[in-house]
Amino acid sequence: MRRLEMPRDKVTRFAPSPTGPLHLGHAYSALISAERAGAGRFVLRIEDIDRTRCRPEWEAQILDDLHWLGLRWETPVMRQSDRMPAYRAALDHLVAEGLLYPCRCTRADIRAALSAPQEGAPPHGPDGLIYPGTCRARSMADAGPQDALRLNLRAALGRTGALFFTENGPLHTGEHAIDPNWMAAQVGDVVLARRDMGTSYHLSVVVDDAAQGITEVTRGVDLFEATVIHVLLQALLKLSQPTYWHHDLIRDEQGKRLAKRDDARAIALYRAQGATPQDIRAMIGL
Ligand code: GLU
Repeated sequence: MRRLEMPRDKVTRFAPSPTGPLHLGHAYSALISAERAGAGRFVLRIEDIDRTRCRPEWEAQILDDLHWLGLRWETPVMRQSDRMPAYRAALDHLVAEGLLYPCRCTRADIRAALSAPQEGAPPHGPDGLIYPGTCRARSMADAGPQDALRLNLRAALGRTGALFFTENGPLHTGEHAIDPNWMAAQVGDVVLARRDMGTSYHLSVVVDDAAQGITEVTRGVDLFEATVIHVLLQALLKLSQPTYWHHDLIRDEQGKRLAKRDDARAIALYRAQGATPQDIRAMIGL
């Protein structure tokens, strides 16, 4: 059944994490996002919840590079580090629904619990290792500072109706139905509040996309699989659901996707060498 689409002014966003320089891959993502906004609104969001990896110098350089590329956005720019009360409120809602539990397992504990010597590498999903459920019976009353908070995925899936999302991008175009059994097996109990951080990428991105009124999420296809987590959280938190546009990734000559450490492809470096914004567009095929 096709759902009726309400006409909405289009709002897209670019959400960099200031953990390194803006490189060609980010420029591509930001330019696509602005282009998808068309006559609508394009907003920025600084994803700086990981205080150990984010640096104000990177943030300043990223904003400067984006401006140089010709992008303009609304101010003030939303910063995730200012949004902890909103994340706390979302977590409180899920706690009240009985959907979260505290977990003290380290990555090594999870690996050990998953390891069956006869079976190769432990299963991975869009959120990393699929949690075996060691702490699932623990109560929130027993949560302490050493704990992360995980979503009880099966219980959560039991609270929502059927879940769908619309992908408008060229790689996976169409309406996607989420199979709860697949999700329970392939995603598992994701962490929604990391220890020492009080939130997580998945929780923050969903809360903030809704707060900024994003109607279409544009981002790299490496996050396509994580979309099922975001759609589930939108349903649990009763937030409006955007459509999605996942784009291909810019790769180096060896076919490896660019990472923050690929300083050789930093926009700042191309700028210093005299490149123009048009040169950058040409390099990424825009
Ligand atoms: N902050 C994320 C990144 O820099 C992007 C997340 C998203 O677009 O949903 O990779």
